[in-house]
Amino acid sequence: MSDIFSLDGKLALVTGSNTGIGQAIAISLAAAGAEVICANRSNADETIKIITKAGGKASSLQLDLSDPMKAAAIVENIEELNILVNNAGIIRRADAVDFTEADWDEVMDVNLKAMFFICQAFGRNIFKRGATGSIINIASMLSFQGGIRVASYTASKSGVPGLTKLLANEWAAKGINTNAIAPGYIATNNTKALQADPVRNKAILDRIPAERWGEPSDIGGAAVFLASKAAQYINGATLNVDGGWLAR
Ligand code: NAP
Repeated sequence: MSDIFSLDGKLALVTGSNTGIGQAIAISLAAAGAEVICANRSNADETIKIITKAGGKASSLQLDLSDPMKAAAIVENIEELNILVNNAGIIRRADAVDFTEADWDEVMDVNLKAMFFICQAFGRNIFKRGATGSIINIASMLSFQGGIRVASYTASKSGVPGLTKLLANEWAAKGINTNAIAPGYIATNNTKALQADPVRNKAILDRIPAERWGEPSDIGGAAVFLASKAAQYINGATLNVDGGWLAR
């Protein structure tokens, strides 16, 4: 019987895979059989070492999403790509009354503009080759909730499920299935400040039915599923992987 979760023979590109959630996604996709391009602005040696040590295949690609159109042009020309994971993301914190244009633009460029134009590049790449593919965009709890002091992050992540649905509408019949994953509170560099704040940490844990922070590897399995044949009739969905946070 064929394994509907296998990614054997697939080439995946994961942005921001040198650390955190992106690293865990890259490792999980490789464990399911995909060859992974770790697309980063920082060195991805650690991720590549973990994957190759486990018998998988991975390579590194320099990709800085602060210049979204330059990054997209690079992705458009990669041959044989099948899976795209738009994971890289940044956050800036300031009260709404003090929020700066720089903090708005930097976050929107990486989290939303680069995400969309890299999807566009991936779509052009797939259609040019007459191939099929899967896109997974990383959303957030702030795709559904307002958050506090993170205006550009909330704006960018609120846009992710919308663009994911738009792309599904345009591309589902053309062989690309586009979905998103909304991670809950995951223990990474991104959330170090929250984990270290005893008041915020307790408030967060009190609301999570699973009673723990998520691990980056909790997101990896969801990514494998959405990239696999098992998810071929799932289009435009945002899968919450949050220990039940949004169920509260
Ligand atoms: P992280 O540990 O801070 O990693 C962020 C990744 O994005 C890093 O690889 C980083 O590269 C990369 N990145 C940032 N700016 C970039 C740029 N200009 N060009 C290329 N890469 C860039 O964060 P994480 O927690 O793993 O988050 C990964 C994704 O999940 C993000 O989209 C985040 O919003 C989302 N998310 C996280 C949580 C959570 O609880 N952790 C919850 C919901 C959603 P560098 O190492 O070079 O900075």
